Amino acid sequence: MKPSESNPRFRQDVPQEMARLDHRDLRDDEFWRAIPAYAQLSRDEFNDYRFQSRNCVTSLRKLQQVIGEKMDPAFYRDVEEGIVRSTMSLRISPYLISLIDWENPYDDPLRIQFLPLGSQMREDHPELRLDSLAEQDDSPVPGLTHRYRDRALFLALDTCPVYCRFCTRSYAVGLDTEDVEKVHFGALTDRWQEVFTYVESRPELEDLVISGGDVANLKAEHIEHIGMRLLDIEHVQRMRFASKAPAIMPQKLITDRAWTDALIRVVEEGRVRGKEVSLHTHFNHPVEITEITRGALEPLVQRGVIIRNQTVLQRRVNDTPNTMQLLVQRLGWLGVKPYYVFVHDMVRGVEDLRTSLQTAIKLEKQVRGLTSGFNTPNFVLDTMGGGGKRNVHAFEVYDRNNGIAVYASPAVRPGDLFFYFDPIDELSPEAQDRWRDPIHRASMLEDAMQRARDCE
Ligand code: SF4
Repeated sequence: MKPSESNPRFRQDVPQEMARLDHRDLRDDEFWRAIPAYAQLSRDEFNDYRFQSRNCVTSLRKLQQVIGEKMDPAFYRDVEEGIVRSTMSLRISPYLISLIDWENPYDDPLRIQFLPLGSQMREDHPELRLDSLAEQDDSPVPGLTHRYRDRALFLALDTCPVYCRFCTRSYAVGLDTEDVEKVHFGALTDRWQEVFTYVESRPELEDLVISGGDVANLKAEHIEHIGMRLLDIEHVQRMRFASKAPAIMPQKLITDRAWTDALIRVVEEGRVRGKEVSLHTHFNHPVEITEITRGALEPLVQRGVIIRNQTVLQRRVNDTPNTMQLLVQRLGWLGVKPYYVFVHDMVRGVEDLRTSLQTAIKLEKQVRGLTSGFNTPNFVLDTMGGGGKRNVHAFEVYDRNNGIAVYASPAVRPGDLFFYFDPIDELSPEAQDRWRDPIHRASMLEDAMQRARDCE
């Protein structure tokens, strides 16, 4: 007797939503051939990371050469205005260009993340700052942020294989733009030596994030040098290399074998010494994951490399239950742990991408229970001004009418309180008026702060 016949709970007519296995359907066609400039490329040519790096779209002119007449002059004028107003320089890989739906680029989740359109940009929130997380305030040596007691962020370089419109480190990452002159952290071994000396001098530091920029732009020997140097420091127990390459240029992991092998050597040396070395990556939407991605990650998974993902919650990109659920399931299917979903930081020039805190709270409820707890992301918010990450539900006060949340962070900054603000264009017309009036604005902030103090 089959289980379905003996027990009604094991019915074969599984409800539609339980039977869905869409997350396992990874794109495996030669999708790049739809782009005029890539139409003649074989699979091997398209999957060569050198082709991907050398052919990134870095200007309007290059975009026009690649896409050609797929788009009309009005679209290109919109892009031009977006580039002028952006805080990040343009750099988009052929892989991403090929995955964008050019029949409807205005609503495409990849276009929204990487290619700015002036018509969709909105005024920044009045409380926004360029370095909204105040990373430079907690920087004892250039390129190192030491905010949490036992861990630190090492910005090893300031370049990436692509540039995301929404980068939290737009104060430092990438080239200067018309709008922003950046703080630069070049990949310089002398500067790294200062970082290693500082880490050695702080026995409480057990955990290092090596980021930037993106470690995909470090040479293989630099990955090994940094990794082995930090493993040699006795109190460093954990280390995470942060790279967006699996999401935006998986070819890097497939065809730059020296780089991938260097990373694996550091992971394996760490294991011998009883230390954890992992890879942290950054997928935001399920369409970023194809069979090419699986080919890139499988060798790492097979060698036991722990891969965790950090997603940024973005309006019209991944702010619906279906998209977020599909992303979480697809990551799990690939062997990537969905570690965090971050509420969008208060970053300049991307107000169109931010969601309200309420959106994150609702999505968290839709995702929890979908799969095992260890494969379920924590929905967190990095508080403005240096309070660190807080669970979205852990606010002291959340004034939904005016879009003001206040968080405490006793383990990081005892006694201090930190704000987060919903995008003003999502508030009621009356609340938007209150934000426009400086006297009202000051009293709303003071009122929220007072109510948070009363909670303590
Ligand atoms: S890859 Fe990371 S560091 Fe680089 S631009 Fe994107 S978000 Fe910023």
